Amino acid sequence: MQYAGIDLRFAKLRLAAMKKAYSACIRLSALCFALILGGCATGPTLVPESMLASEAAGQFEQMKREMTVSTDPAYVEPLMRVGERIAEVATPYMDRVDWEFVVFADDTINAFAMPGGKIGFYTGIMDLAESEDELAVVMGHEVAHVLLKHGNQRVSAELLRIAGAAALAYGIRDQDQHLQAAILAGYGLGSEIGVMLPYSRHHETEADEVGLILMFMAGYDPDAAARFWSRMEELSDSRTPQWLSTHPHPGNRVRNLERLAAELKANPPESLGIRRR
Ligand SMILES: [Zn+2]
Repeated sequence: MQYAGIDLRFAKLRLAAMKKAYSACIRLSALCFALILGGCATGPTLVPESMLASEAAGQFEQMKREMTVSTDPAYVEPLMRVGERIAEVATPYMDRVDWEFVVFADDTINAFAMPGGKIGFYTGIMDLAESEDELAVVMGHEVAHVLLKHGNQRVSAELLRIAGAAALAYGIRDQDQHLQAAILAGYGLGSEIGVMLPYSRHHETEADEVGLILMFMAGYDPDAAARFWSRMEELSDSRTPQWLSTHPHPGNRVRNLERLAAELKANPPESLGIRRR
């Protein structure tokens, strides 16, 4: 079966070879591929992912009811194209995911991702993207948050912080789903999953880097990242993009992404026998 041009049966082997080759020349990318390959998280994920996904799905449905969902093809069509292309690249490295991409008609400059693959874009941030490559920068970033289970890590960290008792957090793994939900609700985390809790700078940098690799693998131009982020930063003087408050600014974001884009282009997956879209 072909998936984003990669034969799935050999995808893992090829990615392993890619990781090896990349690690020789690109430290950053090696880290990213290690994360992708492992599908693993860099922090503890104490809450069952299926539980977070179902909580998030409920919350996403509520947002769709309470906010204006755009049906304007000028927004919806490019978002679906970009979302599906990038999700195709990420999905083989995930256990279970149910992608959904929704445009909210709202001038706010923001986008978000929730555990389980629910992704929302506001028309405000889409207006700022001047091409589908730039849209793919934001989409890659959001898909990377889902792939790397950042929502779970964030909730777990918050649970540990509030509970102040590691035993409780470790213990809920083995409890039944209703009890887990009650514990989370008791700590007020249910309503904050994936949206309200800001990611750490570390998660933001990870999402930037893995997101850039995902969009590159999906056939988009990685140079779009520095362009888009520069524009976002210029804007933050006059009209504060909410995205920057829910996505703390990791220092040197533009320079970091410029460097990674150059490295990816100098060592494209094609040179390792992996076809991009
Ligand atoms: Zn982010």
